[in-house]
Parts: sequence; structure tokens; C-alpha cells
Amino acid sequence: ARKRFEDRIVCVTGVGKGIGHDLILELLQEKAFVIGVSRTQEDLDKLRQIIDQRVQLQQAHAQSDQKDSQDKKEGDEDENEEDEQETEKKNEKGNENAEIKTTLNTNPSYRLICADLSVRKDVETVVQECIAAKVDMLVNNAGVAGVSKFLDTKYEDLRRVHSVNFEAAFLLSQGIAKYWVENKIKGSIVNISSSASLRVLDEHTAYCTSKFALDGLTKCMALELGCHGIRVNSVHPTVVLTPMGISVWQNNSKKGNALLELIPMHRFVETQEVIKAVMFLLSDESSMITGALLPIDGGLSL
Ligand code: NDP
Repeated sequence: ARKRFEDRIVCVTGVGKGIGHDLILELLQEKAFVIGVSRTQEDLDKLRQIIDQRVQLQQAHAQSDQKDSQDKKEGDEDENEEDEQETEKKNEKGNENAEIKTTLNTNPSYRLICADLSVRKDVETVVQECIAAKVDMLVNNAGVAGVSKFLDTKYEDLRRVHSVNFEAAFLLSQGIAKYWVENKIKGSIVNISSSASLRVLDEHTAYCTSKFALDGLTKCMALELGCHGIRVNSVHPTVVLTPMGISVWQNNSKKGNALLELIPMHRFVETQEVIKAVMFLLSDESSMITGALLPIDGGLSL
């Protein structure tokens, strides 16, 4: 596995399901310390189980590597003295490596927080937890959909969608960026926006406007935080068949098929295609990219 996130502390919101869930696993794979935030405790319990199972599997691999290395050492004892000395040196090194691997893998690098990001007090708690952990990267991923015609969209629904998709991202980013500026940390933020802010969708007034606001935030933060070495970017996927994507698009195949017709590549996005773009923008691989709005939409927004 690559290690672009070794020694990095990354906060990801909305890790209970969908994109955030798979992103946190990829970040752990690349050795990040991850702070995962989501609303439903049951989802976090399941995620914890998955992570712990992976850690156990890695431990088993490390132990088997260690055993192979010991077996090799014993087998080599029959060889001549000169070879023996040489082999022993190599095995000592192998055992050392196995030891380090085991130590790292027995120490799961994550913290999961159950919080409702539509509640300001919860967002403030998350900011404090992030600062205490010395966070240096943030992915504003938590989001909710809202489907209704403009004329039928209730003010309460608009507020509900905006409070998670935009306001929580604003509060989290601001709280964390203040800490970064004060401590001269060159942080990186990726906002999960949507192709719906590049090309509006029927029956999506609350959702589209929340993502437009998020894009404005991405650009404003990129403009003002660039001088501190802090980068802010966003990704804009079209439909991904996560629980959200399924409920809005797959459960209405007529609507889903009509959208597929508009996408030049005639397919929806794989979760991993979003994750790869997020990890690129989050990491030092994109060290001179800020304020970028990256479509992941098979050409839908052209
Ligand atoms: P899912 O609904 O599958 O997962 C969203 C996650 O965010 C869930 O774990 C959910 O928890 C959590 N979440 C929602 N509201 C809150 C809240 N108030 N506080 C804390 N956690 C919350 O969505 P996706 O993975 O599909 O979406 C992730 C992001 O990608 C969103 O911002 C979405 O707008 C965006 N996106 C998605 C697309 C798609 O087609 N799927 C396309 C383009 C963009 P819970 O279930 O407990 O509420």
C-alpha cells in the first residue's frame, strides 16, 4: 500500500455509510490516523468491527511473516560458517521489520465520534476533538439529499439540507482553519460537492443550492487561506450508488435512465473513483492545487 498519509491526521465526516465509510478504510490503509464522524452509533459500531477485523488480519500476516523468517533462519543453520554469518545478519533485519509491523498494526489508528452535524454544539465538539488530535486534513463529506419541486420545497427542508451540506462544512472548516493558522499548519480540505452544482437537477432546489453555497465556501477559503499554505478543493461526482444514490436514483429507474442518457460516458460513478480523486486532492501530490472544483461525472457538466 502507498503511504501518502503516514503521520497525517485526517478528519472525515459522514463515515457511517457510502463514500465516507469506504474513504476512511482507504486512508487507514495508507497509514493515516483518522477521526471519523457520523450520526448513527450503530453504523459506527459496524465500522469499528470492520476496522478491527482488518487489523487482526494484518496482525496474522505479520506473525506469519515473522514465522517464515524464523523458519528460514533455522534452515540456514546447516550452511557453512561464512554463509551462516551473512544469513543471520539478514534474518535479524527481517525479524526487526516484523517486530515494527506488528507494533504498528496492533495500534489501530482511528477515533470514531457520534455527532449530529446539523446541531451546532455537536459541530463545536468535533472541532475541539480535531484540535486535540492535532488534525491536519479535513474532508467535509457528510451530506443529505432532499427531493422536491421548487414550488413544493418547504423552508424547513431547505434549512435541514443546508445545515448539513453547507453550514456544518463552514463551521468545521473555520474552527479547524483558525487552529491551523495559529499553529502554522499547512492543512488541506476537500469538500464533497456534487455534479448538481455544475449542472442543476430537476426537483433538487434544496440540494443544488446547498452545494452551490459549499462551492462558494471552497473558493472563498482557497482565496484567503492560500497565503497560510492551506489548500481547499472540491470534488463533484454525479450519481454514486451509495445508500443516498440508491434512494434517489436507482429506486426511480425512469429518472436514473434519463440521467444516464445525459452522461457522455453512460454510466454512474464508482465509489473508488471518488475516493481516488479525494485522496489526490487531500495529499501533497496536489501541492499547488487550490480552489479547484473537480468534476467526476463522465462529462455530464460539459
Ligand atoms: P450516504 O447517505 O450514503 O452517506 C452519508 C453519510 O453521512 C451517512 O453516514 C450519514 O449518517 C452521514 N450524515 C448525514 N447527515 C449527517 C449529520 N447531520 N451528522 C453526521 N453525519 C451525517 O451518502 P453518500 O455517501 O452518497 O454521500 C456523501 C457525500 O457525497 C454527500 O455530501 C453527498 O451530497 C455527496 N454526493 C453523493 C452523490 C451520490 O450519488 N451518492 C453524488 C454527488 C455527491 P446517517 O445515515 O446516520 O444520517
